[in-house]
Amino acid sequence: MKKQQFVVIGLGRFGSSVALELMALNYEVLGIDRNEEIVSDMSELLTYAVVADASDEEVLKSLGVRNFDCGIVAIGDDIQMSILATILLKELGVNYVVAKAISVLHGRALEKLGVDRIIYPERDMGIRVAHQLVTPNLLDYIELSQDHSIVEMKVPVCLNGKTLADINPRVRYGCSIVALHRLNNIIIAPTAMDQLQMDDIMVIIGSNENIARFENELM
Ligand code: ADP
Repeated sequence: MKKQQFVVIGLGRFGSSVALELMALNYEVLGIDRNEEIVSDMSELLTYAVVADASDEEVLKSLGVRNFDCGIVAIGDDIQMSILATILLKELGVNYVVAKAISVLHGRALEKLGVDRIIYPERDMGIRVAHQLVTPNLLDYIELSQDHSIVEMKVPVCLNGKTLADINPRVRYGCSIVALHRLNNIIIAPTAMDQLQMDDIMVIIGSNENIARFENELM
């Protein structure tokens, strides 16, 4: 299968971080920024890095942007430029367009342009940090909907040696432990007899309310 190719427009803090991580994951990345210095700093680190104005349709066409599977518009502060670059990526037929929004209104404008995924980096990171501050064992979480999440949580000392049958999370708390990470292993769909060990990481799915009950009563 052909590997996905990504074009990242705007190599500021967010764009460069996305681009570098995609490179680390072994994908091809074209980075575009109108700032020469930024492009020169990134040129060795990305598959291609080009100085260009992403609001110029002819330039985007000549760079073959339409052939990329995914476009990431990482321009934040300059909302006008973010919107112009987004319209062009959509019109050129880039299959999946992700855009960063710096405010709710910016996000709403991007939504109206048919952006496939809108990211609010500051807002999302703020929410994530708040969750981690109030639940020290929480490592990460993914919101499935407004009410449901998947969370990754470290097994606390008090659960060391307990089996899933002892804890019975499905019946007692209405949430399920769907996987356990132990060192370099991952146990998918652990059974009732699987024993938890301190520092295992539990992957828990459920409603936010039930996950919170599970955390509060057991941790
Ligand atoms: P961050 O907060 O992630 O650093 P910024 O909005 O500050 O995001 O940075 C966005 C980047 O996008 C900057 O490097 C800027 O040079 C670049 N940029 C802004 N407008 C354009 C444009 N029309 N074409 C290409 N790059 C642009």
